[in-house]
Amino acid sequence: MAFRVLRLGRILSHSGAMSRCLTTVPNSQKQLPDSVVEDLRSIVGKENVSIALAVREQHGHDESYHKCFPPDVVTFANSTEEVSAIAKYCNNQRIPLIPFGSGTGLEGGVNATVGGVCVDLSKMTEILDLHQEDFDVTVECGVTRRTLNSYLRDTGLWFPIDPGADASLCGMCATSASGTNAVRYGTMRENVLNLEVVLADGRIVNTAGKQRRMKKTSAGYNLTNLFIGSEGTLGIITKATLKLYGQPEKTISAVCHFPSVQAAVDTTVMTLQCGIPIARIEFMDDVMIDACNKFSNLSLNVAPTLFLEFHGAAESLDSQVETVCEIAKSNEGSDFTWATDADERNKLWRARHDMLYACLALRPGSKAYSTDVCVPISHLPEIIVETKKDIEESGMTGPIVGHVGDGNFHVFFPVMPDDAEEKKLVNNLAERMGKRALELNGTCTGEHGIGLGKRKLLTQELDENTIQVMKEMKKALDPNNILNPSKVLFPS
Ligand SMILES: Cc1cc2nc3c(=O)[nH]c(=O)nc-3n(C[C@H](O)[C@H](O)[C@H](O)COP(=O)(O)OP(=O)(O)OC[C@H]3O[C@@H](n4cnc5c(N)ncnc54)[C@H](O)[C@@H]3O)c2cc1C
Repeated sequence: MAFRVLRLGRILSHSGAMSRCLTTVPNSQKQLPDSVVEDLRSIVGKENVSIALAVREQHGHDESYHKCFPPDVVTFANSTEEVSAIAKYCNNQRIPLIPFGSGTGLEGGVNATVGGVCVDLSKMTEILDLHQEDFDVTVECGVTRRTLNSYLRDTGLWFPIDPGADASLCGMCATSASGTNAVRYGTMRENVLNLEVVLADGRIVNTAGKQRRMKKTSAGYNLTNLFIGSEGTLGIITKATLKLYGQPEKTISAVCHFPSVQAAVDTTVMTLQCGIPIARIEFMDDVMIDACNKFSNLSLNVAPTLFLEFHGAAESLDSQVETVCEIAKSNEGSDFTWATDADERNKLWRARHDMLYACLALRPGSKAYSTDVCVPISHLPEIIVETKKDIEESGMTGPIVGHVGDGNFHVFFPVMPDDAEEKKLVNNLAERMGKRALELNGTCTGEHGIGLGKRKLLTQELDENTIQVMKEMKKALDPNNILNPSKVLFPS
């Protein structure tokens, strides 16, 4: 479709602002007329519209390696009604509209590749409706997972989905995020009861019915899960009703080293086969541990390693721990190093969450090229060993870290942003890794999403008919292709 792309001299004249983008794609071909900025100001207020280059650039990229594509205008919405009015306006004017949560995505989901209007949702931060007795809460789209858990601290409840970064909860819905706790608590798909969504034409829908928050339903199509993982291409999620869990009575973390990837994964599989409700079981290869020791000031053995965490009542934990220690021993694992008090545990998991930054510290000035795949767990050793060999042969540094209990792992490549050759090399490595996952009945992304980076692999993962159905759904919900165009399906 042809977007109305006109020039706005005033936007261009803002070039004096400091740029935070390492590689910015100049946006000179796709400027909107002055009247659009004025119209948006009349919807959200003058103070909530910005055309400053620094603000536009800040909203033109996430934490990934993808080039910065600034939107033409950034709006800050304060309510569902404002989001709805912005969508209606952009739809009528055929202007691209890109939702922005916290910008922690890893596949270029927020990058405004064809310009347009960014709607920043970070001002919508109300925690609206907590039902302690029913274990659920409804939040506005700008609430982040850390804010929610701080709010819940004294209630004995918590929301366990933990992608490491302090992402917005509705951004996490949009990417179908998961992370270290998914092996026990599931992903966003299993933990959302209802969503309020603004459609491209401004209509507001509640995917499970207004104010409904039951744990199960057989009523009609599962619209909630249609929007989870839709990456801002089908609607803008303005509220989410989430499942909560009781805070565990006791938590213990441990570290164990192994002689090989196979031994670490065998330990994981046997632990799951024994029905141990392990809360976290995370794999790191030797390269990752080395980077982590340097960055987080640890002194772990440089070897394939598992970080583990157990949640539960004191008595049940003892027997869980005993069984896992025996399993690890049978796979030639080292003795467990325990982190029982909160400070030690936090240090360990902080180090786990900082691993992307530990990789960047290996090459000052680099940007993270992060890629994730997921396979049936029995294929995990095979794909990790092959991927490691491929990385070693390429001469690149690429530490491996995995949510191993789900068969999901990541490679973080620290790449020099201006080195085109290196970028091509890493693109090829990532593509081969994705193809390997597909050959092993897996997916090209377990949790980061398709964004810009995985569009080609998606067409290899799904058959033609399935892609066609997705395109038809996109067309039905967004006939003018204004919502985050060029992401996920391309061409839409
Ligand atoms: C250090 C680090 C570690 C990470 N580890 C993990 C991990 O272990 N597991 C994991 O799953 N992810 C991980 N991530 C990725 C990231 O945190 C997730 O993708 C997160 O879910 C994105 O949320 P966000 O609010 O930052 O969304 P953004 O980055 O702002 O947006 C992501 C996508 O969702 C869309 N979007 C955002 N908000 C909305 C909304 N309200 N409605 C509709 N569309 C919307 C955007 O348009 C974009 O396409 C990590 C990121 C970092 C930086």
